[in-house]
Amino acid sequence: MSSPSKLYEESGRIKVNVTPGRRLEKVSKEALAEPEKFWAEQARNLVWFKEWDRVLDWKPPFARWFVGGQLNASVNCLDRHVKTDTKNKTAIIWEGESGETRTLSYFQLYRQVNKFANVLKSLGVGKGDRVTIYMPMVPELPIAMLACARIGAIHSVVFSGFSSQALVDRANDAQSKIIITADGGVRKGRLIELKKVVDESLPSIQSIDHVIVLKRAGNEVGMGPRDLWWHDLMEGAKTYCPPEPVESTHPLYILYTSGTTGKPKGVMHGTGGYLTHLYATAKWVFDFNKQDIFFCTADIGWVTGHSYIVYAPLMHGATEIMYEGAPDHPRPDRYWAIVEKHGATILYMTPTALRMYMKYGDVVPNSFDLSSLRLLGTVGEPINPEVWMWYFKTIGKEICPIVDTWWQTETGGIMLSMCTGIETIPMKPGSATFPVPGVDAAVVDENGKPVPPGTKGYIVVRRPWPGMLLTLWGDDEKYKQVYWSKFAGMYYPGDYAMIDQDGYLWLLGRADDVLKVAGHRLGTMELESAFVSHKAIAEAAVTSKPNNTKGESIIAFLVPKEGFTHSDDMRTEIVAHIRNTVGPIATPDEVYFVNKLPKTRSGKIMRRLLKSIACGDKIGDITTLEDGAAIDEVKQAYEDLK
Ligand code: ATP
Ligand code: MG
Repeated sequence: MSSPSKLYEESGRIKVNVTPGRRLEKVSKEALAEPEKFWAEQARNLVWFKEWDRVLDWKPPFARWFVGGQLNASVNCLDRHVKTDTKNKTAIIWEGESGETRTLSYFQLYRQVNKFANVLKSLGVGKGDRVTIYMPMVPELPIAMLACARIGAIHSVVFSGFSSQALVDRANDAQSKIIITADGGVRKGRLIELKKVVDESLPSIQSIDHVIVLKRAGNEVGMGPRDLWWHDLMEGAKTYCPPEPVESTHPLYILYTSGTTGKPKGVMHGTGGYLTHLYATAKWVFDFNKQDIFFCTADIGWVTGHSYIVYAPLMHGATEIMYEGAPDHPRPDRYWAIVEKHGATILYMTPTALRMYMKYGDVVPNSFDLSSLRLLGTVGEPINPEVWMWYFKTIGKEICPIVDTWWQTETGGIMLSMCTGIETIPMKPGSATFPVPGVDAAVVDENGKPVPPGTKGYIVVRRPWPGMLLTLWGDDEKYKQVYWSKFAGMYYPGDYAMIDQDGYLWLLGRADDVLKVAGHRLGTMELESAFVSHKAIAEAAVTSKPNNTKGESIIAFLVPKEGFTHSDDMRTEIVAHIRNTVGPIATPDEVYFVNKLPKTRSGKIMRRLLKSIACGDKIGDITTLEDGAAIDEVKQAYEDLK
């Protein structure tokens, strides 16, 4: 692995604060000294119908923020702007896969949301009812979400790439009254027949009264007795819907986690605390200004889309880009083309998409004008230092800071990241830097004791934060067991991490995936980054299986870069590379070359599947798997070498 300190020097072209970390340190110290006062100040940036009586009611492990306060999420995203000169500002620039564009001003969005809220009301949807949304990445998706929020209904968005079983499980778990869908969506030039999937699912979901269908792709669909067209309903809808004032702790939505480590969990978020966390983190991390064009590439089916496409940028009155389509279709240049076309100033994307683009070399991004960019961000997985450097140099031209944001569906918003809105500090490629103000994160050992710098352990959060999940939908026991049982009184995210001598945090992979080799504990990230630092390797996934002498043996699955073909010589060279960079302890026992790795639909490597294959175990829940062919390929590679 390239040494972090060397890379740290290389990032030095960016103007950083002369006394790096001082301002952040001051804000963070004040925040942790009086957290309730601190968060109450942040909450005052929202619009409230009634201010809270108590900032925090903490009955571990259940936190209720801004108790007694009343507000409405759609008012905070829309009504607050239509009374100002933001009214006619572009809220959403939507771009389709083949380059078609639609724009919506804040006022247009406001109108649509009001009308659709009236539609939902007319169908008997009220406060606390659940609405499942299974839609492509079109503006009607945030419209539907905000309309639910306006009447106090709880939305449950199901990623539109999921099949019938995933939809059935989620709609049943939430006991939804309504499903909102579209005739079809488009991905990689192919039609995805969403309505057909809903039709297949309906016999297994008893709670549904109506299905609302948006005409999007224009494909033929069958309309049954419960099915209603979006455009028919909207035609007669009244233009204004009074917002429902909801309690701060009223559930805003349910969202199921990505399912990287197992069966997805139904995370439930509240309103006042969640929005406060988002408003504050967006200001600190992205430092939105009036001219910004924010491009978050996530799908709204994931939490990043909920928090940083829908709620945070709209609360701030920002202009944002919403893209429907794959990053590499029709060509592996879509994000760069969109940055150039719309003049995006902030790009927030994933390491997995970066590794995909990197595979094609610099020529592609270099053929676009990316000079509008001022800030880059990543989320979703640890970013390999090699990939960070490419992002920094090739995309950001060494002048855009990178915010590596660590957080989870459960945390609601960003927990660890550089905060450019407070100060830009020296960066270390692969480190998420520090907790955002008010977040009390630490790295602890098996017994819950903080570890000294340089020692690996588990990341924990020692006190509640406003974006924290309320619970798991309908399952308080599971909530307690998953997040609060490993360490007394501390939230356990399930990630492995380290704090270095300068206090910077490094995420090393999932705690479940840690390898124990000859008495050493290795995070998957440490090894995978070493593989990816070899010139021929685009992607790596590491797992292990039991070994009598050294505890566990290391197994690596590697995807070569374009133009490199694997051979026994290459395998030998790569093993030598690992021995030289990480050390002999990290020598992989088995190395397999594959064309793709098994990933979740959100692009995260599913190492547990690799482990099951390597250990000959049964493969568990794969409803969130992106492409079944990746498993077959891994199995084949495994068989071939046996
Ligand atoms: P499941 O909990 O169902 O297994 P998931 O954990 O992938 O799914 P998410 O909530 O979407 O579901 O992802 C959160 C996880 O993603 C974090 O716990 C962490 O492992 C990883 N992650 C997110 N951002 C970063 C980051 N910047 N650096 C390192 N890891 C990250
Ligand atoms: Mg998780």
